Amino acid sequence: MRRVLLVAATTGYQVREFAEAARTLGVDLVFATDRCHILPDPWGDNAAPVRFEDPEAGIESLIARGPFDGILAVGDRPACVAAQAAERLGLRFHSAKSATAAANKLLTRECFRAVGMLVPDFQRVSPGMDPMRYPCVVKPLDGSASRGVIRANDAEEFRVAAERVAHMGFDELLVEDYIPGREFALEGIVSGGRLTTLALFDKPDPLVGPFFEESIYVTPSVEGEAVHSAIRDAAQAAVTALGLSDGPVHAEMRVNDRGVWMLEVAARPIGGLCSRVLRFADAQAEGLCHLEELLMRHALGDDISSVHLAPGAHGVMMIPIPNAGVFRGVDGLEEARKLAGVEDIVITAKPGQVLVPLPEGSSYLGFIFARGDSPGTVNSALRKTHMSLKFHLAAALPVVK
Ligand code: ADP
Repeated sequence: MRRVLLVAATTGYQVREFAEAARTLGVDLVFATDRCHILPDPWGDNAAPVRFEDPEAGIESLIARGPFDGILAVGDRPACVAAQAAERLGLRFHSAKSATAAANKLLTRECFRAVGMLVPDFQRVSPGMDPMRYPCVVKPLDGSASRGVIRANDAEEFRVAAERVAHMGFDELLVEDYIPGREFALEGIVSGGRLTTLALFDKPDPLVGPFFEESIYVTPSVEGEAVHSAIRDAAQAAVTALGLSDGPVHAEMRVNDRGVWMLEVAARPIGGLCSRVLRFADAQAEGLCHLEELLMRHALGDDISSVHLAPGAHGVMMIPIPNAGVFRGVDGLEEARKLAGVEDIVITAKPGQVLVPLPEGSSYLGFIFARGDSPGTVNSALRKTHMSLKFHLAAALPVVK
């Protein structure tokens, strides 16, 4: 039986999806997680403990659990740990150096600039500085999911934004020119440094700030082939610049008159529940498979060139948190589920949960999945469904000490 090591921080949706893929493929999946080192097996899954902040000892102990035939990771930090583990265990994956660069926005920008890619002017934020060029965007060096990413239109807004992000506990911040344009996301897989695009998403919402909520992703993109090919080329250039060589990537970019501006390339697949939007058809097999199954086959070295995105259009809406409050519930769910094109609605917020919107918060109320004949119908199905739902948030009471 082939064995795959999965590095993950939590046992969320994507981990379960990988476990399911392992069952389908007859693979023995071994977890490496950053859990309590005192309890022998707190989650009853015989996972290997690895301290993500200081993974060396944990990685050494993985050798005794091997040999493995492949390695995978869920999340940015786990991807860096997996990259280190892969080097130690002799497995095919992105190098540790490339995964580290991909997870750091300053290193990423430096790599892109060094090879002559389009990059905004950028610099590390220092106390009392005035970037002088506006609009600009302030962001933590190692954040994700748009947490702490804020647009500032003048010196005062910049000062307030930098203070606000620093208060969130991020030590180091980057400031860069605001890039106007349409935004896209690319899901891909890299083999020997060569990027294969699995899906290119339009992000049809105007993302102009001051905060940048990811909301709707629809694939295939409605742009023409010239834009698609420019995006694929820029993403390949970014993968090469970072040195990413083997494994999944999730890239984000903006496109305007001057060309394709890569925002980032993460050394991991699209996060959590969102991956459900992707379904793949295999010319050599019946039925559709999930992204996680495809990634596992790739990790094992199987040829996945006969796999392509399922026909039709596919979309997901990450339902943003409109304002801070305590989640009370949602009305209209059953009716919304029956709307044309809606595949599923998953409410992830729990009643009683305190919800915090961007830039401090990082989660969503839930997810809407839609499929249809065209990206346009999927886009409208997502919006219509969102509008038909009524979320109840009660004002959070201040804590009296
Ligand atoms: P994260 O990794 O937290 O998602 P990103 O750097 O990808 O951080 O930024 C999140 C979002 O903020 C992007 O998807 C984009 O919409 C917006 N954004 C970030 N940097 C810029 C920029 N320089 N110009 C315009 N928009 C930006």
